[in-house]
Amino acid sequence: MLLIHCPYCEEERPELEFRNAGEAHIARSASIAEESGEDFEKFFFIRSNPKGVIFERWRHVHGCARFFNAARDTVTDRFITTYRAGAPKPSLPKSASGPAAYANRPPDQLNVKRPRRKPASKGEAK
Ligand SMILES: [Zn+2]
Repeated sequence: MLLIHCPYCEEERPELEFRNAGEAHIARSASIAEESGEDFEKFFFIRSNPKGVIFERWRHVHGCARFFNAARDTVTDRFITTYRAGAPKPSLPKSASGPAAYANRPPDQLNVKRPRRKPASKGEAK
């Protein structure tokens, strides 16, 4: 089973709790109503589909319900990192383009900062 790290819940959860929400970091036009139908079609429907690392939006629908971004390899289906929505696109090492170059590499090696998890208080179920 594929486990996905939610950057808000700060834990890895089964993929069944998540939904892919498409490509991340898509720049929206400030004047979308003035765009031609062809340009709007490109913005709305046309996505790159590269072999290798892609940046996607995901939603933890059966958890915290929040959107976040992820870098994932389409060849291996491995998540390189996940990060909060609104955070800048992480720069990945050039070696990240090869499927064997990384395997669940922690974000501190990708210049992605994750907030430290709050320690559980006594008596709190984990
Ligand atoms: Zn979550």
